This record gives sequence, structure tokens and C-alpha cells, in this order.
Amino acid sequence: MMHMAFDSGRSLLIGGRWEAADDAMPVINPWSGEALGAVACADASHVERAVASATRGAEAMRTLSTGERSRILHSAAAALEADDERFAAAITTETGKPIRGARREVARAVNTLRLSAEEAVRLAGETIAFDSFPGGEARAGHFVYEPVGVIAAITPFNDPLNLACHKLGPAFAAGNAVVLKPAEQAPLVAIMLARLLLAAGLPEEALCLLTGRGSDFGDALTGHADVAMVSFTGGVRVGESICRAAGIKRLAMELGGNGPVIVMDDADVETAAAACASGAFGAAGQNCIGVQRIYVQDAVYDAFQGALVVATERLRVGDPMDPETDVGPMVGSGAAERMIASIVEAVGRGASLLAGGERAGTLVRPTVLANVPRDARVACREAFGPVVSLFRFTDLDEAIDAANRTDYAIHAAVFTESLRTARHAARRLRAAGVMVNDSTDYRLDAMPFGGAGRGNMGREGVRFAAREMSQTKVICFHDA
Ligand code: NAP
Repeated sequence: MMHMAFDSGRSLLIGGRWEAADDAMPVINPWSGEALGAVACADASHVERAVASATRGAEAMRTLSTGERSRILHSAAAALEADDERFAAAITTETGKPIRGARREVARAVNTLRLSAEEAVRLAGETIAFDSFPGGEARAGHFVYEPVGVIAAITPFNDPLNLACHKLGPAFAAGNAVVLKPAEQAPLVAIMLARLLLAAGLPEEALCLLTGRGSDFGDALTGHADVAMVSFTGGVRVGESICRAAGIKRLAMELGGNGPVIVMDDADVETAAAACASGAFGAAGQNCIGVQRIYVQDAVYDAFQGALVVATERLRVGDPMDPETDVGPMVGSGAAERMIASIVEAVGRGASLLAGGERAGTLVRPTVLANVPRDARVACREAFGPVVSLFRFTDLDEAIDAANRTDYAIHAAVFTESLRTARHAARRLRAAGVMVNDSTDYRLDAMPFGGAGRGNMGREGVRFAAREMSQTKVICFHDA
């Protein structure tokens, strides 16, 4: 019902107007299989017009006062808060994320927009002490942050609202225009967000929205000479192809992870197990900072394994609109089939199945594995599904080395009561964030967020993204 407005397929926002295209595609509810509506499939000709419009929008944004940018973002945050249930229901119906998680995502998106509104009036430069070095005498000046221009923002399906806000909020705060490409599984929430921002007073050409398949028009967008920056959140494979197509321009890559957690023998085992079950299986494991590998010290291994299996089996699996549901469907049957194939591979190579391992359509039961070969797919690649693997260790450094054995790291975590152990692990874990007595899944939207190792290209977290979406300009006055 709530999506009937999109049935006409007029989902391309270009020059402040909503348009259809020759081709359209359905948006499917992954739980019911029902078509929620249809969206237009953009092509390279739409990219051309969208970038031309956003180029004009960038001029409008550049001249908008910081106070006005802030006011628009505050109004958008207030409008989102007032409409939170409709947005939460839309997230659940198009992604299958359980409604409690969808409500949390909306609340976080409100915060992300508010942080962006605050950042708009804080993004000032600094004065420079030119006379601090010989040759700089009689000079005075400062630097300011200027917008980069048109930003292509490309988002994944799993947090379709908050991850779009993490790009749009800082981009507008810094005075840029955006061409947004949401994931093909989850365009409806992005359309709702675009409408809300325009209603909040955003200059109409500051935001274009292109729905459809990234494979059809992604290269045209990211490679466009008038796009100054590509801000991407998604998988490594697509990220690599975007880097090739984009050429020399600013790139921000928020990629996947393979979240390791270390549980020490002095940890509170019940608390750690509950946090790991939630961090591994929330959003059916479709979470870039989800818990994927858990290293448990000998003395508490059996207790932790028992507590994790109990916590996992207690999770309510099913209809994501039911507020009692903890784990809903995966985003599509292809994703669910790939998940089961990886579990079968691990079990075929000697892993023990302690919980789950079954699939019904798009639902995959939360799965706990032990004795997993370290080169099994579920252990060495991003799983992005409801599976977690347990490993036993004796010595902390051995666990840290194993945790670090991954190309793409976002967060790592350690459960311990010892400050010395926590500080040692925090120093040695190769990750962009180390959570102590929380799972890898903890994130505050104000903190710097990104990758370490190969995934290290740019930072989100509003204040940090706003600077990545700006360029400094120095103004120097010579008195002589
Ligand atoms: P994905 O398949 O990589 O797609 C992400 C986005 O890229 C989609 O909008 C997709 O469009 C688009 N795309 C595909 N091909 C493109 C091309 N050639 N040019 C430009 N854009 C293109 O990722 P996903 O399955 O939606 O999301 C899961 C991944 O996102 C996981 O790896 C997860 O770890 C990662 N993620 C990272 C973070 C973070 O903050 N680090 C947060 C959440 C998720 P289509 O949908 O049309 O293909």
C-alpha cells in the first residue's frame, strides 16, 4: 500500500522532477516475495542529464550559507523523526530487516542528519601562522573548506536509509551536490528520503536520484569527468570495478569486513555470548561490522560455546514485521543459497555444526560452526550472512595474529576485564576500530568509521566525511 506511489516507475529524480525510463524493474519484499512496486532503470543518457543538473545544483549549494544548509538538514531530521514508523516499515518490507532493527536505523538516520546539520556550521577553516618560518614575515592568512562539487554516492541494500544519510548529510553540510544510486534491492527508502529532503528546502538540483542496475550505468556515472568524487559503500568486487572506472578523482570506499572477536578467560562469558549472538545475527548477518569469527581462550571455551549456542537458539526467526522477530530473511534467495553453500563447504571440510545450517526460501537459520578450517570461505572471506565460527586459543598474541589474518578489516573486538590485555589487544589488532567489551557490531554515527588494510580509503562518521567531501583553500595576504 505505502509504495503504490512508485508503481508508475517515476523514480528518477533529475532537475527536481520525477521521471520514468523505457525500462523498469520490480522491487521485491524478500520475506513475502510480493512486488512492492516498480522503479525505472536508468541508463547512460540519464547519467548525462543527472550530472548536468547536479553541476548546476553544486553552484546553488556552494553559494548557500552554512546557516541555511544547517537549517535544511535540521528540518529534514525533524521530518524523518515525525515519519519514523513509515520509514521503518519501508526498510523492513524492502530489505527484510526485522522491524525493531529498522526502527533503530531510522533513529540513527535522524541523528546522522542532525550531526550533519551541526557540522555545516562547524566546517570553518583555521588561521595559519605564516610568520613561523623565515620568509613568511608580513604575511597573514587562513584556510577555508570549499565543496568539491558533484559527488556520486553509491549505497548498498543493508542499511538503505542511514548509509544514504551518511553520504547525503555530510555532502550537503559541506556544500556539494549529489547523484545518489541506491542498491537495486532497496531503492524505495532512498526515494522517500529524497522527497523528504526536497520538502525540507534542499535546492532542487542539489540531489539527483538514479534507480536501476549499477551494471547498466555505474561506469558512466563514476567515470564522468564532471563527477568530482565517488563515495561508495558496498562489496570489494564492485569497489574494485568502481576504482578502475573512476580514474583520477577523489574516492571513498566503505567496503566489507570479516569481524573478529577475542574472548579472554577473564571475560563475563554470558555477556560476551549475548553480545556476539546479537552482533553475528542482527540483520541476518548482513552487516559489514557483524561478528564473523570468535576466538575464545581455552579455560572459557566450553562455557562460551554453550552460552553462544543457547543465545543463538533463543533467537526468534521469521516474519520481519513481527516485533518479536530477531532474525528475518536474507535479501534474496540467491544470497541465502550462497550462504548455505559456504556452510556446506565448511562442514564438508570437517567443521562441526553446533546450531542452524538450514534454509527455507530466503530464511537461513542462525548458524554456529566450530573446528572450521581457516581457509574455508566462512572464515577467510566476508560471509555477509547469519553464520559465525568459533576458534579456541591459548595465547593472546596467537589469537591476535589469527584475527589479523584478513585483507579487509573494519572493527575488531575483545572481551576482557583486564585493562592491560585490552590495551595490548587495541594496539596490536589491525582494524579501524577496536571495541572493548562490545562486539564488532557497535557503531556510533559520530565516530570515524572506515576500513583498515586494503579497505582503507576514506572515513565516514559525519565530521570526518564532511572533510573528505571538501577541499582546503589557502588565502594569504602579504602586507609588504
Ligand atoms: P554491492 O553489490 O557491492 O552493491 C553496492 C552498490 O554498488 C549498489 O548500489 C550497486 O548497485 C552498486 N553497483 C554495482 N555495480 C556497480 C558499478 N559497476 N558501478 C557503480 N555502482 C555499482 O553491495 P551490496 O550487496 O548492496 O551490499 C553488501 C556489501 O556492502 C557488503 O560487502 C558489505 O560489507 C558492504 N557494506 C559496507 C559498509 C561499510 O560502511 N563499510 C556498510 C554496509 C555494507 P546494484 O544494486 O544495482 O547492483
